[in-house]
Amino acid sequence: MTETIPQPRAAEETEPGGSPAVAAGLLVLAPLRFEANAVRRGLTQPTSQVQRTGMGVTRSKKRLAAESKPGPFSAMVVMGTAAGLADDLSPGDLVVATEVSDGEITVELPGADLLAAELRRAGLNARAGRIRTVGKLVKAADRATLAADGYLAADMESAALVTAAAAGRPVAVIRAVSDGGFGPGMVSGGMAALRSLRAAAPVAERWAAACRERTVLLAGPRSFCAGVERAIEIVERALELRGAPVYVRKQIVHNTRVVADLEQRGAIFVDELDEVPNGATVVFSAHGVAPAVRTDASERSLSVIDATCPLVSKVHAEARRFAEKGYTVALIGHAGHEEVEGTLGEAPDSTVLVQTAADVAALSVADPSKVAYLMQTTLAIDEAADVSGALREKFPQMRAPGSDDICYATTNRQAAVRAVAADADVVLVAGSKNSSNSVRLVERSEREGTPAHLIDGATDIDLSWLTGASVIGLTAGASAPPAVVSEIITALSGLGTVTVTERVTTTESVQFGLPREVRR
Ligand code: SF4
Repeated sequence: MTETIPQPRAAEETEPGGSPAVAAGLLVLAPLRFEANAVRRGLTQPTSQVQRTGMGVTRSKKRLAAESKPGPFSAMVVMGTAAGLADDLSPGDLVVATEVSDGEITVELPGADLLAAELRRAGLNARAGRIRTVGKLVKAADRATLAADGYLAADMESAALVTAAAAGRPVAVIRAVSDGGFGPGMVSGGMAALRSLRAAAPVAERWAAACRERTVLLAGPRSFCAGVERAIEIVERALELRGAPVYVRKQIVHNTRVVADLEQRGAIFVDELDEVPNGATVVFSAHGVAPAVRTDASERSLSVIDATCPLVSKVHAEARRFAEKGYTVALIGHAGHEEVEGTLGEAPDSTVLVQTAADVAALSVADPSKVAYLMQTTLAIDEAADVSGALREKFPQMRAPGSDDICYATTNRQAAVRAVAADADVVLVAGSKNSSNSVRLVERSEREGTPAHLIDGATDIDLSWLTGASVIGLTAGASAPPAVVSEIITALSGLGTVTVTERVTTTESVQFGLPREVRR
């Protein structure tokens, strides 16, 4: 599947300078002399240029048309001061436009979140939001109206400049909040705004360097697995059927977006059961719990709904089965992971955790002829194979689990990321830092020789990762929502036309039933 998401084009476009095909640097359009000078002082690249446009729509358009054309440029940023409309904006704060509108024409700028995040990483107070271009200085009453309409800042030129000058190239708008006025004589916060514009200039250059037409190679399958979908649905249904609050022991799945969303809807996440009031409803997470936790819940008269993934429950059952038969269970996994703690708890006296081949070398068991191994479900296949190989060498009679412990979703996502990493300059993996299967996708890509980065969302993208990258591999861990992938593609489209090609290595049809407590 291939889809092209073009850089949003202005309604009316004229060609102010060289051909868009010419690779060049950043063009900054700054309305006033003091704004242009502040930006000039901050620029670092010889290819960057600043053009002063004059104040207001009419003057800036006229000046753009009349003055000498800028040299070739590859990306354009409108930079200047603005009136802050939100109460919590202070002089010097930066607003990066998600859209600019003059009331008639609205231009959306989907890369705003990336640029605002890069400004924040540079130590500046920056946020992304809507900017309104107005015809005259904003009075107090107008401010309230514009703020109520959802605008963060107001200026007098941006809508005209992005529609007149970008000519299809990537474009951004950065406005520094003064005290609300636009002229040099009326801005008590003007100095703070100019300092911010100067500090923002090298960040605008980094943004321009990251701009280019590119391909996004989308790994398939990616994002939610059947176990994660089931766990989320269990919490949603518990909230619906029993009302808020519903307590959830540990993160239901390892993803900050999912957790934040459920929290907003009334779920309360706790680390341990002693934080749950007696008699309340508690959901056990997809990663499973040790039997001691179930006993504790029962003694506390908690109403338990178990969202443990059936594939994790399968590993638990295997641990019990081997232990009952007198085997020592070597559990291949990562220390401290909730799933590993749950599995270890099934047969604590018979189970040992082995993380590496070195752990295997140091392992001593009572009866070497009665050893079995199990695995955490979200391991890297090749690394787990190294450890199981070392175990097999040391304990040739070792028993294996009845079927693979590394689950289908982990296996499929690793194969899929491998397929895109082979042809990508860089790989982005949507997922949270504590998501084991997401971290493994990063490692999988790196083992293919392609740098990879784990991101919770588009704002985690460091623009330097994208500089020079024409092909970006994109995937998402099993606990990362599909919407995050869409958000990342949209943000990338703000840096130039994006062609999305999906590379599907396999399709999935696994589904798990819900526990009876939440069946309707
Ligand atoms: S990653 Fe695998 S084991 Fe974990 S919840 Fe998803 S399907 Fe279940």
